Amino acid sequence: MSDNTKNDAPPERPLKAYAFDPSQGRNLGNYMTINVRNEALQPGPVGKYLVVIDYDASNDTYYEPVNLDDPAVLLRGGLDPSESDPRFHQQMTYPVPSDTIRRFEFALGRKAKWGFRGGRSPDPNRYRLRIFPHAMQEANAYYSRDLQGLVFGYFPASETDAGANLPGQTIFACLSHDIIVHETTHALIDGQRRFFMEPTGADTPAFHEGFADIVALLQHFSYKEALLEVIQKTGGLIYRLNVAPEVAPADGGPVIAPELSTENPLVQLARQFGEAMGMRAALRQALGTQPNSKDLEKLFEPHDRGAILVAAVFDAFFSVYVRKTRDLMRIAKAGGATVGPDDLHPDLANRLAKEAAKIAGQFANICIRALDYCPPIDILFGDFLRALITADYDLVPNDRYQYRAAFIEAFRLRGIRPQNVASYSEESLRWCPPEEMKGVTAPVCKGVDFDVFSLPTPAQQKRNAIILSLFGKNNAEALGLRPGIPVQAHSFHPLHRVAPDGGLRVEIVAELMQQTEVHLDPNDQQSEKFTFRGGTTIVLNREGQVRYAIQKSLGKDDDQNERLRRQREYYYAMDAISGLTTYLPPPPLDGRPMNFNLIHRGY
Ligand SMILES: [Zn+2]
Repeated sequence: MSDNTKNDAPPERPLKAYAFDPSQGRNLGNYMTINVRNEALQPGPVGKYLVVIDYDASNDTYYEPVNLDDPAVLLRGGLDPSESDPRFHQQMTYPVPSDTIRRFEFALGRKAKWGFRGGRSPDPNRYRLRIFPHAMQEANAYYSRDLQGLVFGYFPASETDAGANLPGQTIFACLSHDIIVHETTHALIDGQRRFFMEPTGADTPAFHEGFADIVALLQHFSYKEALLEVIQKTGGLIYRLNVAPEVAPADGGPVIAPELSTENPLVQLARQFGEAMGMRAALRQALGTQPNSKDLEKLFEPHDRGAILVAAVFDAFFSVYVRKTRDLMRIAKAGGATVGPDDLHPDLANRLAKEAAKIAGQFANICIRALDYCPPIDILFGDFLRALITADYDLVPNDRYQYRAAFIEAFRLRGIRPQNVASYSEESLRWCPPEEMKGVTAPVCKGVDFDVFSLPTPAQQKRNAIILSLFGKNNAEALGLRPGIPVQAHSFHPLHRVAPDGGLRVEIVAELMQQTEVHLDPNDQQSEKFTFRGGTTIVLNREGQVRYAIQKSLGKDDDQNERLRRQREYYYAMDAISGLTTYLPPPPLDGRPMNFNLIHRGY
């Protein structure tokens, strides 16, 4: 390709995909087109971030890779959705993760980074996320840091209770839009917060799961056709679990298909997968349970517990949606328009869809940005609330539509209580700099060097790591680190913020980590040891002043150490309940990451 044609290349490439999964057929805008950033692709497809490898380990077979740059394919906007064509399966696993990556890059204002290092292997694709669309014959899908990729299984639908599927029909996880986004999100979180893969308490694995579901569900509201249809059939009440039938059934109940009401796919996750497993329902439902502040005390399985977080975020999302569209509904009613599910005025439906899509995009941005404001390890749901509030405050100090109030209320209703805060007020939830770091005499971290628009060079990385580690060491006490234990700076990124004067400020976020070896049983010096980590996320402004120090302190090795006690209790409890090795404490020195393979098994 000459340089000339390169410059003429369109900025986006349209590719067809299922909005949900094959079981939806063509209903509700299920055949959609995703416009991804245009890049030259090798057969696979292989792009800048991803490499699709269609190797089936269960059958030891390679499938021929699809060439999306083939003019015949390009002209059609990619292959048409098909359950039986493996080349379409390969295609599906390219635009969907690409779109999720783009969302993260947009929200974070920087290039995406993976959690694996690539190693020294001669493989030219070692820095790309590997995607295995048909990895194994199993009702499973997961992200693996060891495999540096996403693994999707396939399995026969239940013979006795297959829902909308044919009994015994083959179900492919790689054709479920939700599952692909969910797994890609695991990989992206791992690239930002490496230690979130260490299960240090019930909230940590649940956070990974819940967050991945939140991103997948919010994405639904960007599918224009599906959204518009749901808005029309629910009279704008997009959070309702059911959408109205095409025609109202007679008194005796529905007798033909158009009289049946259907479930609202926007608030469900991976319906085909769940039904095919005989669950009679979608894999997970974001809504439909009443806020219950006791759930946190009862639910410990990562997906169930994560669902509490999902419900809280969606409660806030729908609250803002209702608030922001109330005037539209009023105007419509005053003008004599009907606003029921039977015939919502198309103009009104369009306006509502636009508003819902916009708010969903903003919520995705707030949630993803909040990752930068999370502690480096051992995240609790309450920490995430504080991160959300701080991240959003930093970007939009004036909260005209009360997004933050909606988050706070929704989290409060579900019993999510942040630690060490005086109240649920916005001021007390916002992170603040440590006392010692306030004022003109406070120490500053000078010399950190980065380029806003590109990833740092290895030399820059090394220099920054030394400067930041030294700053942590010299100010250990004030930053919540334990003096006398080495401090390692683990990641540092530029962070963008809009100052109250409207100008864009660039800041730095970094993780300062420490670790120590402790016995599982504090009273038994013979008991197994595990690596107990502590750390602080610091946010520095351009001058090197500490704006926030978000701490998970190592504390002391004694029984006053609340975090250590909780972590020990968690290991005991999980070992007793599951009998699986998933939750065993990480072995010394190198933490054992969460095993998503085991967590996702059967889901
Ligand atoms: Zn997951």
